[in-house]
Amino acid sequence: MTEGDSGVRLEPDEAELELTGRELEQVRHLLMRELEEALPEAPPAPAPEPAAVPTLEEIEPRGIIRFPPILFAVPITAIERTQATQYLRINGKGSGYAADNTVPLVAGKDLILRVYVRSDSIWWPHTPSAVTGRVSYAGHPDLAPLNGPIAAMPRSAIDRNLVNHTLNFRVPGAHCNGTVTFNLTVWNPAYPGDAASAFLSRSIGLTFDSVPRVRIHGVLIHYTGKGMNIAAPSGLDLVNTLVWVGRTYPIRGFNYTACEVVDFNGDLTVGGGGGCGTGWNQLFNMLWNMRAASGTDDVFVGLLPPGVPTSGVIGCGGGGVAIAYKGGGSVLAQEIGHAFGRAHAPCGNPGGPDPNYPTYDSYPSGSIGEFGFDSASGQIFDPAGTYDFMSYCGPVWTSPYTYIGLKNAIAASPASAHPERAGGRDIEREYLYLNYRLHRGGQVDLLPSFHLHGRPPAEVEGAGRPTNVGCDLLGPNGEVLESHSCSIINPHMDPDGPVVEFHEVIPWSDEVRSIAFHRGGEVCHTLKVDARAPELALQPVKLVEREHGLARLEWGAKKKGAAAKTSEEYTYVVRYSHDGGTSWRALAADLTESKLVVNLELLPGGDECLFQVVASSGIRTATATTEPVQIPRKPRNAVILAPPEGASFAEGEAVEMLGGGFSPDFETVDSEDVLWMSSRDGQLGVGYQVVTNQLTRGRHRLMLSIPDGGDGEAKASIEVTIR
Ligand SMILES: [Zn+2]
Repeated sequence: MTEGDSGVRLEPDEAELELTGRELEQVRHLLMRELEEALPEAPPAPAPEPAAVPTLEEIEPRGIIRFPPILFAVPITAIERTQATQYLRINGKGSGYAADNTVPLVAGKDLILRVYVRSDSIWWPHTPSAVTGRVSYAGHPDLAPLNGPIAAMPRSAIDRNLVNHTLNFRVPGAHCNGTVTFNLTVWNPAYPGDAASAFLSRSIGLTFDSVPRVRIHGVLIHYTGKGMNIAAPSGLDLVNTLVWVGRTYPIRGFNYTACEVVDFNGDLTVGGGGGCGTGWNQLFNMLWNMRAASGTDDVFVGLLPPGVPTSGVIGCGGGGVAIAYKGGGSVLAQEIGHAFGRAHAPCGNPGGPDPNYPTYDSYPSGSIGEFGFDSASGQIFDPAGTYDFMSYCGPVWTSPYTYIGLKNAIAASPASAHPERAGGRDIEREYLYLNYRLHRGGQVDLLPSFHLHGRPPAEVEGAGRPTNVGCDLLGPNGEVLESHSCSIINPHMDPDGPVVEFHEVIPWSDEVRSIAFHRGGEVCHTLKVDARAPELALQPVKLVEREHGLARLEWGAKKKGAAAKTSEEYTYVVRYSHDGGTSWRALAADLTESKLVVNLELLPGGDECLFQVVASSGIRTATATTEPVQIPRKPRNAVILAPPEGASFAEGEAVEMLGGGFSPDFETVDSEDVLWMSSRDGQLGVGYQVVTNQLTRGRHRLMLSIPDGGDGEAKASIEVTIR
């Protein structure tokens, strides 16, 4: 395994090598040619160990170039390119699991270039006690190091775990697109003129892969259980909670496609029931049903307010659903990871650990394996004591394994930027969304289920664990209309536990009269299905409070035929369409009350907006739709998340600006359209996140400007002081 970029170790005796002035000139000339030819990517190949310095005159005509290793000891000994994690091994730090710098780079995401500079190189015109440098690339001003000058040190003293053992440069994400050639130059600050030496420069061409933004459908949870009333977190809380996820994920950002506020009155302290526990499973089922009824592949992220009592579980996810508390960024990183088919990393005894998770060198099981880097804070994460966020150990960051795996999954997944892409279940027709709990004894409890016309969410590859459980939909004469194998989509569910919950999508037929559940080929339970759908009567939408855009929806449902004798409760899903029924999204699911207050401010507008109630008597379902109403369209709002209003920073200190904008009609503004300005310093950068240490001393009004989705601009501003 090579070390750094040079691939050559400096032996102490070689450092004593003496060359005459003329020999040195010739060697410099040849080395220059080597370096030029090798650019932009490949470093010079290591030469075999020679017995003695060959005579150049003998070698050059034959075209063979053999150098003693010392000659490759150029001052820039390695360049680590990291956006969160990277392979690199230097002085025993790094896993050596894969070749240096082979974690791919992502377009639009801040890049840190960590430049490893050695003082023990014969190519220094003046041996340095300190080093500084710059990065140049076309079309943008040169970058100064975040931390230079730093103390000079021989290669053997460089510790990758220490941020000031390298010169660090931040390339803004907005500049990381396509292929970019970066020219790096270092010099001894006592001799700035040395920067002209070609031996103090390296040039690298880096290619950035385009990865779609992850599409997030926010579900903000208003808690009404256990006699409590805890307000839902805000949309900004959701964005803030996902900041940590954005740092550790191979993406340039999120697209918030929608945001709902829902009531939940379950009890999260109730354990048992497999998976995350009965209470959490109930919440999971509600979000899974909302997603199923929304005809989208977006990840449904449920956010709980602090203070909701729990058994100790702090998150749950799988099957395109991820739930955590406000502020639980690293929990959401794991739960969204599950939504993209990622299994647990092996630490802390999680369920279903990923058998392919690598053993990184001598680092502990579940370690992040490589040194992580937070591009915003400059914090380094040591694999000796940091664990992958897919594990149950902490503290956490991301491993190359999870990072690359997520990059592939997000690029391939329909839950990214391709809502219209055909999935495996892309046929539009009637589907049964069947949720049930199977006890070890074979008994089945039906959970809120329904059937609906549309296209179900696409299945994420590798997300479901196959089982020996199945269900057959049977017709009036017991004939099998549809045979279906069930799989576990919640990775926290133990397939061998006393109870297992299933969430299945099965093509539906109105001929179905019963469902036979079988395990290992034996029928263990049969469920009767009502022959007739409920009778559903929906009242017109009533505006209850104009100022806050609240509307009330009420309906009545009656059981028909033999079903009238059963005591089972109906459950309801409420859906909304802003385009006359072309597309639908769920506003609530698993309701047992026959009314709902809807916040119209959170909904996209249109001339033909419809509300629909989906009423299920267990399996058999009826729908009713309101007359079209007109609901106004909303422009985007611009929001600055950081820094806080009135913040104060020392001159040269890094100031992180975070912001963006959203509207239910125009979704999230693209990162390229987020413009940051200072009243003192003019344009500062582009993107959801811009970090600068270049603000001049004084008071600044920092302004964020985005297109509002119509013809206008939306703006936000705050004041900060640089002292
Ligand atoms: Zn998990």
